[in-house]
Amino acid sequence: MAVSEERLQKAINTLKKSGVRITPQRHAVLEYLLNSMIHPTADEIYKALEGKFPNMSVATVYNNLRVLREVGLVRELTYGDSSSRFDCNTSDHYHIICNECGKIVDFHYPPLDEVEALAEKVTGFDVSHHRLEVYGICDECKKIASQKH
Ligand SMILES: [Zn+2]
Ligand SMILES: [Zn+2]
Repeated sequence: MAVSEERLQKAINTLKKSGVRITPQRHAVLEYLLNSMIHPTADEIYKALEGKFPNMSVATVYNNLRVLREVGLVRELTYGDSSSRFDCNTSDHYHIICNECGKIVDFHYPPLDEVEALAEKVTGFDVSHHRLEVYGICDECKKIASQKH
């Protein structure tokens, strides 16, 4: 899927307004994320862009992701010990995750506000947010599996 020029322009305007310098690498990381539907890890972004920027390191990618996260353009999804994945869809949505390849795909479902309200009521917590993840095998991995048999 091609990046919508409009989304990229909007994101760049947000960076400008926040006083963030737009380096070619930062621009490339942002563009890659906007084009990527799989919620890549920093390593995957690095591998995708190293051909274009031979001097770039994984640390540079992390640094750019941190900046993008701080201005609210990117969300970081942490998974305990395994590496974080990055999501540039910052609207409310849920995720389905492939058990085989780890790919994360967005889907929309009305936000489960009542779960938050109930959790607050029964535990006394001040709820900040919730995360819901559905797991399964993606289409591509199903095809690969059926080719092996
Ligand atoms: Zn898969
Ligand atoms: Zn997402």
